[in-house]
Amino acid sequence: MQFATALVHAGREDLHRLGVHALPIDLSTTYPVADLDIGTQSFDALVGGAAAAENPIYARLFNPTVARFEQAIAALETTEAAVAFGSGMAAVSACLLAARQRGEEVLAVRPLYGTSDHLLRSGLLGVRVRFVDVEQIAASITPDTGLVFIETPANPNLDLIDIADVVRQAGDVPVLVDSTFATPVLQQPATLGAALVLHSATKFLGGHGDVIAGVVCCNEAHAATLRQVRAATGGLLHPLAAYLLHRGLPTLQLRVERAQANAQVLAQRLQSHARIERVMYPGLDTVKNSHLRHTQMRGPGSLMSFDVHGGYEAAVQVLKSLHLMTVAVSLGSVDTLIQHPAGLTHRVVATGDLALMGIGPGTLRLSVGIEDADDLWADLCQALHA
Ligand SMILES: *Cc1c(COP(=O)(O)O)cnc(C)c1O
Repeated sequence: MQFATALVHAGREDLHRLGVHALPIDLSTTYPVADLDIGTQSFDALVGGAAAAENPIYARLFNPTVARFEQAIAALETTEAAVAFGSGMAAVSACLLAARQRGEEVLAVRPLYGTSDHLLRSGLLGVRVRFVDVEQIAASITPDTGLVFIETPANPNLDLIDIADVVRQAGDVPVLVDSTFATPVLQQPATLGAALVLHSATKFLGGHGDVIAGVVCCNEAHAATLRQVRAATGGLLHPLAAYLLHRGLPTLQLRVERAQANAQVLAQRLQSHARIERVMYPGLDTVKNSHLRHTQMRGPGSLMSFDVHGGYEAAVQVLKSLHLMTVAVSLGSVDTLIQHPAGLTHRVVATGDLALMGIGPGTLRLSVGIEDADDLWADLCQALHA
């Protein structure tokens, strides 16, 4: 099955047999146990991380609507399995807890999503973090390294990281790629050797700003551990949220490609605008490893950051003057969102570290939607001249 077909059909293979056209939703919290032997075996299997069992027992252990979405996203990421969570951060937390079975130190490359950076530094989950440059990964691995954690494209400076190179350096240590900005439409990290592909499904996968969710795509062995963590800690995805995510998958490629086309137009126009200091966008050669957009990726995506001349005051003035674009955190929605990383998403990162990540007081991050590019440009232009 080609990718575009899988987007429409994955996780729906049995609908004909069931005699339905839309995805069924099962909201049960508990399931009748008609046979105690089957119930006991099923309970043990699910608590131990099995993907399914004869009796689902209890919705913290298994839900068929969530399992359907997991099957679909696993097919799109070309992995054996996927495990869905109640948010992207619940997914990150489960990966960090699972990694402790192997070692307590996580090697991470900055910049990461602000809250991921904060969680790693906080020590809340009992992991220690060492932030390293990409080139230093191989030399930094010790017997206590449980995980290598990268994000590409990175938030918010849009640097790209060569996933295959990181996998080579990591050897047998699992590599986690936060692929939220790319979606499986633009890159499939598992085909490059990443053991764990993570999405904040709140963003492009949901795509309409009405679902908080996370998912990790991986092989069955990793999935079993992640399911154990999920069953024990309860970071579940609600079946209605799973339904909405699955419902949105058929249009994912259309949304991502249209937003990307808009972003390319806006990035070029911004770059030659007198009030703009610089634009960070993989579609211009203004970010680290931008060439990977042709090889590792199928395009530069629809996120960019730019610096307005005049720093903080100028950036605030732009935000205040926008009419069409929404000033809000989050990204990957059908409508255009713009935000101030130093003041909002990356506030939990220390000021000195912010500068190293390329985030200044005048930096704005733009998540371009699927509106008309000229309407978006007109809004930006009038705000820049305000
Ligand atoms: C939003 C986001 C997260 C966290 O996801 P939530 O669904 O908000 O918990 C993690 N990584 C990236 C890159 C994100 O954009």
